[in-house]
Amino acid sequence: MITKCSHCSQYFYAQPEDVGKTITCRGCGKDVVVTRQPDFDNSIPPVTSGDGCMALFDFKFCKFVSPSLMRILYIIWFGVSLLGAIVGMIYLIKNAPSIMIPIVIMLTPIAWILNLIVVRTGFELAMAIFNMERLARQIEKNTRRY
Ligand SMILES: [Zn+2]
Repeated sequence: MITKCSHCSQYFYAQPEDVGKTITCRGCGKDVVVTRQPDFDNSIPPVTSGDGCMALFDFKFCKFVSPSLMRILYIIWFGVSLLGAIVGMIYLIKNAPSIMIPIVIMLTPIAWILNLIVVRTGFELAMAIFNMERLARQIEKNTRRY
């Protein structure tokens, strides 16, 4: 959000949770209490991609797949990969030589967790990029008023 220095009247960015706290002005270096500026719209602009599922058919990638869709995809992947790990483990236990069974029991959960970490990292990266795009739009919207 944007706040204004009471000493030098300069506008600068502050975290919304800092309202009421004293921070150092980036313009004049004096201590200033963070206040909300009613003349600035501090709300984050709505996601233009609208319905998350429709963004999947946007092959130009000018719109973003919404975080809610990513959440659903992650839940689906979590379930599918868990089921796959269980089915795979049962199959290997039935078919592998008996000496291999303890290794199968040990390695299958590790493999599943490693896969989940990789997928999770990918999702978090995509979310971070999405949030950056949202923040960039918020800054653009606010700075346009100068
Ligand atoms: Zn100042």
